[in-house]
Parts: sequence; C-alpha cells; structure tokens
Amino acid sequence: MDRAGRITEVPGAGKKAEADFRSLGVVTLSDMVHLRPRAYDDRRSERLLSDATVSDPSIACRITLLGRSEFSSRSGRTLKVTAEDDDGVRLEILCFNRYFLKSQLVPGSVWYIYGKVMKNRGIYQISSFEIKHTREEAGIGRILPIYPLSGSLTEKLMRRAAAFALEALSPIPDALPDEMYRRLSLMHHDEAYRCIHFPSSPEEAEKALRTLAFTELLLMELSVLRERPSSARRTPSKPSRKELQLLQSLPFTLTEDQMKAADEIREDMDGGVPMNRLLQGDVGSGKTLVAWLTALHAIDKGKQVAFMAPTELLARQHADGAAELLSPLGVRIAFITGSVKGESRRLLLESLRKGTTDLVIGTHALFSEDVSFRNLGYVIIDEQHRFGVQQREALRKKGNNAAILSMTATPIPRSLALTLFADYSVSVLRSMPKGRIPVRTYLVSEGRREGMYSSVGVEFQRGHQAYFVYPRIGDEGESDLKDVISMYDFLKKKYPDVPSALIHSRLPDDEKMSILRSFREKKLMYLVATSVIEVGIDIPDATCMVIEHAERFGLAALHQLRGRVGRSTLPSYCFLAFTSPITEEAKARLSIMKETTDGFRIAEKDLEIRGPGEIMGEKQSGFLHLRFATLTGDIQLVEEARNEAERIVREDRGLLKAENAPLRMALKDMKADQQE
Ligand code: ADP
Ligand code: MG
Repeated sequence: MDRAGRITEVPGAGKKAEADFRSLGVVTLSDMVHLRPRAYDDRRSERLLSDATVSDPSIACRITLLGRSEFSSRSGRTLKVTAEDDDGVRLEILCFNRYFLKSQLVPGSVWYIYGKVMKNRGIYQISSFEIKHTREEAGIGRILPIYPLSGSLTEKLMRRAAAFALEALSPIPDALPDEMYRRLSLMHHDEAYRCIHFPSSPEEAEKALRTLAFTELLLMELSVLRERPSSARRTPSKPSRKELQLLQSLPFTLTEDQMKAADEIREDMDGGVPMNRLLQGDVGSGKTLVAWLTALHAIDKGKQVAFMAPTELLARQHADGAAELLSPLGVRIAFITGSVKGESRRLLLESLRKGTTDLVIGTHALFSEDVSFRNLGYVIIDEQHRFGVQQREALRKKGNNAAILSMTATPIPRSLALTLFADYSVSVLRSMPKGRIPVRTYLVSEGRREGMYSSVGVEFQRGHQAYFVYPRIGDEGESDLKDVISMYDFLKKKYPDVPSALIHSRLPDDEKMSILRSFREKKLMYLVATSVIEVGIDIPDATCMVIEHAERFGLAALHQLRGRVGRSTLPSYCFLAFTSPITEEAKARLSIMKETTDGFRIAEKDLEIRGPGEIMGEKQSGFLHLRFATLTGDIQLVEEARNEAERIVREDRGLLKAENAPLRMALKDMKADQQE
C-alpha cells in the first residue's frame, strides 16, 4: 500500500491536530487505517423514546420540534426545546452550553437525534446528543467507531480521517496466501480494514478483528522463526567426558525432561548457532543440574561459563553446589559479587581475562564493566525474570556469540510463552524428580494456629526443618522487622530447645550466608524470615513452610515460597496462616494454592487475576507492538498463528513461492513500521 500519505491530508486535520494524532501513534494515513477503534456505537436500529430503558437509554429517531424556552443555569443561559417523536411521545432537549442552536432549532422543523435520555418526573429529557437534518448525518442505521482521543481531536474528525485514509489507500492488498482466507474463514484485508472501522454488524467487526489480529501474530511469529536456524542443520551430540563423570557421581538418575533439555542445549551449542533458550521448570524440577551438565559440555570444548543469580544468597548456594559437584572433575570455579573487592577482586578478574577460570558464578556484579573474559561461550541466568533485558544483554555482549540459557521457575502460560518468548527456543521440565510427594497445603485461620505450631513441633522431633515467613510490606520498613523479631521471640518460647535464627535483608550478606550454611548443616532447625528466602534456596530436609499473613502475598510469591519445601522424598507441608478479614481476591489466591501445586495452573490463574501487563511488564511493552491482537484474549488464535508460521517456515523459509508473496510484502511493511 502507499505508505507515504500524511494524516494532514485529511480535510480539517491541521497543524494542531497533527501533534494530537501523533500522540496516538498516527503520523501517516496507513497509521490511521491501523488504529483500532476502542469501541463501537451501534445506531443501526431506529429507537423511539419508548424503546429507551434504564439499562439501554439510547434513542436514535426522528423528532418534530414543538416549542422552546430559556432558563438560567450555572452554565449561563440555557435553551430548552420541546419535541415529539413519531409516536407523539414528548421529549425535552436541554442545550447546555449550546445556546447557539437557538437559531436552528425552530418550532415545526424536523430533525434526527441521537443520544441517551433520562426520565425526569415522567418526561423524557436529553442533554447529551447529536442532532442532524438527515438520518445519514446522524449516523442512524450505522455502527460508528469510537476511537481513543487526544487533545483537540473529536470523534467526528477521527471518523473522517479513517474514511479518508481507507479511501486513499484502497485497495489494501492481501497479506495472506489466498487459500488461508477460506481455510481459516478470514476476511480479505481490504474488507477487514474497512470493517474494523465501519462494520455493518458486530459480527463483521469481530471477523475483521480476528483477521487483523491473526495476521499480526502470524507475521510476528514468522519474522522470529525465519531467523531461527532450521532443525535440519542440527547435529545430535553426545555428552562429553566431564558430563559423564558428573552423571556417574550423582546418587540419582536424571529425569527424562532433564535429559531432553540437556540434549537440546548441547545440539544448539554444537550446531554453531547462537543459542537463546528458555529453560522453564516448576520449582524443584531440577533446573540447576541441567545448567551444570551443559556447563561441563562448554568447558570440555574450551569455553568459559558465567552463571548469574539474582541474589548473593542464591549465588553463594550455587557456588557451594558447584564446588561440591564440579571441582572434583577439575573445573576451576570462581565466585564474584559486589562485596569481592581489592586484591582478591583483581586476581579474580585477571583469571577470567586469562582464561584460568572455567566457571564463574555471581550476581549482577558479573556485568560490571571491568569484568572481561578470554573466551566466554555460555551464559546461564538463573531466575531470569528477576533481571532486566538490558542486564542480560550486557552479559551476553561480554562473550563472542555466547550461548544463553535463561532459567525460570515462574511458569508462563503457553499462550504467553509463545509470544513473549517468541525469540527464544524453549525447553520445559515438566516431570519432577522421582519420589517427590506433592506438598500438602493447609489454610490456617486465627483459631487454628495452635494446631499448626504443634504439627511443626512434631516435624522437629523427626529431625526435619522449617521456615516461618513474614510478609515484606512495602520497602522493608522498620515495622516489618518488628514483626519478624516479635515472631522470632514468640517461636523461641514455643520451641524452647530448638535452635533457630532470624534472617532478613538488613543483615550483612556474610551473616545471611553463614546462617544458611548452618541451616543446611542442621545446626539450625528453623529460620524466621522475610521473603528473602523466596527464590531458589534448596534445603532438602526442610519439610515445613509456614507463611504468616499469607493473604498479603501474591500468587507467584506463594508458589515460590512453597517451593522451598518438598524438595526431597520426605512428605512436606505448607501452612498458609491468614488473618481475617481478607479480600475476595486474597481468598481466590489462597484457595488456588490449596487446590493445586501445579505451577502452570497457578500461573494461568495469576494471569486471570492480574492480567499479563503486570506479570510481564517490561518485556511486553518493550518488545511487542501489537495493535489488534491481545495476548490473553484469544489463546487459540495465538496457537493457530504459531502453527501456521511453523508450517510456512518448514515449507518455504524464504517465502519465495508465488502464493507466499503477500506474506513477504506484509513482513517488509511490518519491519519498515517497526523501524520508524
Ligand atoms: P529448581 O528447578 O527449583 O532450581 P533445583 O535445581 O534447585 O530446582 O533442584 C531441586 C533439588 O532436586 C536439588 O536438591 C537437586 O539436587 C535435586 N534433584 C535435581 N535433579 C534430580 C533428579 N533427577 N532426581 C532427584 N533429585 C534431583
Ligand atoms: Mg533454582
């Protein structure tokens, strides 16, 4: 289509309107055609006064004016016109701020009026209305689009602009291969654009929207999939020497999903194409092991590996784990955080630069500027949702086309994963390691706390450990601390001989770490904590998670916290203690937690409750420019687009076949759009 036309060509769209259009993202006529009406105003049927009801007070009909009078109101002199419709029912028209209508609204004249009426002492009144000489002008018999507005823009101007743009760009070419329209019952594009702005029925608007949304999703998936290496080039590759050694040293065997994920990563690495892979697996599914295994693969090939975790606590835990599992295989490991300073930092940086460190584990200190590598080939990001896109990019740039593995325990519903992570390949750990028993969850009201404390006491006698968690309110204010501290005192009295510790984010990092070590070594039996322990901590003998004020936590946090237990073959328990009264939303969250331990199910629920914007915030706004499609609106449509895109790329990656020419053109247009 002709992309050159400017919105200022529309009659009545002057200099002032230009800026207002721009704030809606409309610069060209093509932008206008792509602006989705936010709603429609259905004026199809003539509605007489007696058709108006409280729930649908709109009228659209012919009236005859009978008389007029004036009265004073706050807005000055106000004109009041009386009229009747074709049934002879009376209407009072109140022209607030429209005294100028006086010269036109003369008794005896006939008009078409559109608006919403109110009944006042048995008389219909209208004060917000459009009044025109003809049915056509009043829009009666049509469905009118309602657009988002900005500044001086009016719906009237927007409608004119849409009609003008459609006319100027007509005929808008098809974006899809001919056969797809029929097979998927879509509208041809010229018609679809016309119908999204000026539909003649709600069904038509619906079909137009479906067409445009589908097209948008298809093009996005296509542009991503075409850049991804084809599976044909992949070479299956075997575990390397060190990997086999690690596998032999483990007291258990990998789950099938762990094996498959490791295979996929290895294939990517050996295929010589830059890997960007998301490893999704619910809490406790064993993602770390997949990371270590594939790290060994890279190291065996002479590459360096960087492993980044969101907190110092977690980074330390991983470093300890790596020291235990990987050092015996001859892997040279280093640990870096912001608190590594001075001479030890200098030596560490030098070893990275020289390549005498194989694996470095750390926090975001890893992407500080002075960190450089000799041959960084593999970057692993734990709990990837805790990092920003820029932070991930910064680390990637330190390597030369390094493979990237992003791990996440925040399960993303499939529909979202397909779109938000369209530029990633995805591996999923769905199965849990053998012998795991689902955590049993109890909702505990005020009156039943005692029972809960004694159940936990029984677990202590069995030599099992527990967490007691208090919510973090706001930004770690003093009051939260008081809560945890008084809780700590309370529990000490409750369990007089059981060793415990208080852990919260105000403690210096080395203190946090030594507490965690003592807990792992069972010198401590329970921790009283704020949600610092939310992410990643792995202590197999901890079997009780007590969450106080559970009503104040979000679903994702609750799921993460519960994931701290049930990490071995021991039966384990999660107590969600709440304090009434609680909101409906909180009630919904707690009952979902009781109902299921399936992270995917919980994520879908979370999506329903909070909407995708909040969950994926940054990623969604930074990466997708969707005009017609909504990610959660129609999961089926997203999947349909993905399937079609996969088929097309399989059959005609270059889009060279004649029937795919429309797609090739539309993709080019889309790319041009995104560059603007
Ligand atoms: P997450 O996926 O939540 O990061 P981790 O990687 O921390 O989970 O693993 C959780 C626990 O499960 C760890 O203690 C780990 O050693 C253990 N684990 C991992 N894989 C297996 C397996 N195949 N069989 C048994 N236990 C396993
Ligand atoms: Mg983990």
